Amino acid sequence: LPTARLPERAAVVDLDAIRHNVGVLRQVADPARVMAVVKADAYGHGAVQVARAALAAGAAWLGVAHISEALALRAAGIEAPILAWLHTPDSNFSAAVAAGIDLGCSGWELDRIVAAAREQQRPARVHLKIDTGLGRNGATAERWDSLVGEAVEYQDEGLLRVVGVFSHLAVADEPHRPETDTQLDAFREAVAVAEDAGCDLEVRHIANSPAVFSRPDAHFDLVRVGISVYGLSPFPDQSSADLGLRPAMTLRATLSQAKRVRADQGVSYGLLYRTRDAATLALVPLGYADGVPRTSSGGPVQIAGETHRVAGRVAMDQVVVDLGPDPEPAALAGAEAVLFGTGDNGGPTADDWARAAGTINYEIVTRISPRVPRVYV
Ligand code: PLP
Repeated sequence: LPTARLPERAAVVDLDAIRHNVGVLRQVADPARVMAVVKADAYGHGAVQVARAALAAGAAWLGVAHISEALALRAAGIEAPILAWLHTPDSNFSAAVAAGIDLGCSGWELDRIVAAAREQQRPARVHLKIDTGLGRNGATAERWDSLVGEAVEYQDEGLLRVVGVFSHLAVADEPHRPETDTQLDAFREAVAVAEDAGCDLEVRHIANSPAVFSRPDAHFDLVRVGISVYGLSPFPDQSSADLGLRPAMTLRATLSQAKRVRADQGVSYGLLYRTRDAATLALVPLGYADGVPRTSSGGPVQIAGETHRVAGRVAMDQVVVDLGPDPEPAALAGAEAVLFGTGDNGGPTADDWARAAGTINYEIVTRISPRVPRVYV
């Protein structure tokens, strides 16, 4: 990385990697089209920048949870189709209809969406959501026929168009589990009900990243992909490289200090770590306020080409790394520490940090806080 031009602490986002990953996903999903899921500020990578890169690489749609996230993309001048799927009674449906944002609908939203369409004098574009087994949002199978019926009535009045039917998978990251088959059967049935009732669907969609790779029969017209756009694997037992993906985010900082300490020096709050011999400690100015999980233990940090482990607790603003007896502190002035990145040449990855923190790579990148500047290369 060109450290000289980087801020002292940065999440460096490689937009070329985003474009590469979208290209891979388009190939794997072909002929289905790709919706790049850019909710949660594009899993921490920066929604507008990632959205533009993904669209440039041939993503046809963008997906977000909240209407507010979709409006922010429109405000940045992005005109591509956007679907927002997670609402509350306080969500701004009128602004969404005015901005031409497609709306996911589990049932209770229908009247509010129609009211917004009346107010805006413009038909709303709706994707009806069926809960095929995740037990989260989406209409239950029992409610599906009546929801479709109500939506078609509104459609006949010109107040909305049902352009999509969608659902979300619960266990696609565990390809051997049978529940995905059950979900796909229920989904096909729900689609048939909507089509028989007169919905002229543009898109049927249920696949997330793991299903793109493991379940071609789940692709339908459109795949909603998040984590793999960012170059990370959705499977615990497969790496980015195994899937042909390139991790887009590198979390790095310039060392704030390197110093010699004696043997048996306690390190960081609680003094849970003690140096074995006299050692050089490197202080890395990234801590839990930056999104480094405090619950992690021994997360990897690459300094001067070698990977070491965090010594002791993650503090609010920094972590300490024990570099062992050899390095001269003076030689480390201005050196770079990489917590995770591409994984090239054995470097640490978000997967490594997920293991160290007992979580998933999704959370590692998404939790990097706004205090860390995003830099685009
Ligand atoms: N679709 C929905 C409804 C989601 O909530 C998400 C993310 O959690 C995705 C698609 C993308 O999932 P993934 O990041 O596993 O590709």
